Amino acid sequence: MTSETILYLIIGITIFDFVFNKVLGILNNKSRKKPIPASLTGIYDEEKYAESQRYQTAVFKFSAISSTLSFFVMLAMLWFGIFGWLDAQVRAIAPVEYLSSLYFFGILYFASDILGLPFDIYGTFVIEEKFGFNKTTAKTFVLDKLKGWLMTVIVGGIIVGVFIALVALFPQTFWIYFWIVTAVLMVFINMFYTSLIIPLFNKLTPLGDGTLKDAITHYSQKVGFSLNNIFVIDGSKRSSKANAFFSGLGKKKKVVLYDTLIDQHSEEELVAVLAHEVGHYKKKHIVWSMVLSVAQIGFMLWLLSLLISSSEVSWALGANSTSMHINVLAFGMLFSPVSTVIGILMNLLSRKNEYEADEYAVRTYDRKPLISALKKLTATNLGNLTPHPAYVFVNYSHPSLQQRIEAMEKVA
Ligand SMILES: [Zn+2]
Repeated sequence: MTSETILYLIIGITIFDFVFNKVLGILNNKSRKKPIPASLTGIYDEEKYAESQRYQTAVFKFSAISSTLSFFVMLAMLWFGIFGWLDAQVRAIAPVEYLSSLYFFGILYFASDILGLPFDIYGTFVIEEKFGFNKTTAKTFVLDKLKGWLMTVIVGGIIVGVFIALVALFPQTFWIYFWIVTAVLMVFINMFYTSLIIPLFNKLTPLGDGTLKDAITHYSQKVGFSLNNIFVIDGSKRSSKANAFFSGLGKKKKVVLYDTLIDQHSEEELVAVLAHEVGHYKKKHIVWSMVLSVAQIGFMLWLLSLLISSSEVSWALGANSTSMHINVLAFGMLFSPVSTVIGILMNLLSRKNEYEADEYAVRTYDRKPLISALKKLTATNLGNLTPHPAYVFVNYSHPSLQQRIEAMEKVA
């Protein structure tokens, strides 16, 4: 392929991506006005329902503006060869080739993060604030940003550094070695997420003795699942939205409950939510999704190895010599249709797993408290009761609330 064809291909993919997501977003936005299904009545009163509609409209409009803007910035950068221009600049200032890649990715990361900053601020302090979700103070926001940057510089710097070194040492087979590195890193992050990363941003406290802990212990003994490490996270520091998750593998696994979740739900509902999470473990969803992500990364790296030293790809983005980092960037754009398809397949699998975890919770605990917990979560998060099926198919990692409740009601 000539560099011109590659450029047009990348521009075509960028336009297709944008239009595809736009169409889905518009369909979903219209779908909100559909009547509320019978299984979902009583979640909102009339006033709260109107508020949820206003919230979703605000979020939709805001993301439409920011995605349109970044689309045009990207088109301009491709059309005017800005990536190639940046490549020439970093080569001129970097004393060795190795550093030019680090500069290149570093500059792109900080430029896009700083361009996105006004949107971040508006989203948090105007939209989320207006609907009563935001609890982030300006101080927390600034500290989060600084910690995030520091972490990216350290972790990202090491990852990019290892990648560059492997490409230089093994131009053909680097992808196998880098694949091993990422797989080890993924397992490592999963194991130490709650002990190393979360404490940088939040406070974790072990769940104190009391009736909630007793109820959880009682359930976990019944299903033969050790739940010794239960922690409460101060999610209320940033938002009133609620959540719960598991982290870690094997005996080291931890359950993390948001303080906001505990405040808003009854003990029965909390145990039901945990029973759902236990279902993910018992059905081996966590291990399988990790295996699949590792396989997906391997496939991606192999494809990347096919074009990483292509001069035509570098020229397509406006570079005047063959540039490894330009090719990595171009690969990301060329790969995007494949990654959309993989994403849809992963969401299909994830939704199937959610049904299974719900069923597990219904069978081993109870149906009613899980349904009422899900309804409450939707109401406090001002969630959409009638998302468009096409939007759900592409973007939802969980089935819609209606689908989940109807499936749970069918469990004998
Ligand atoms: Zn789940």
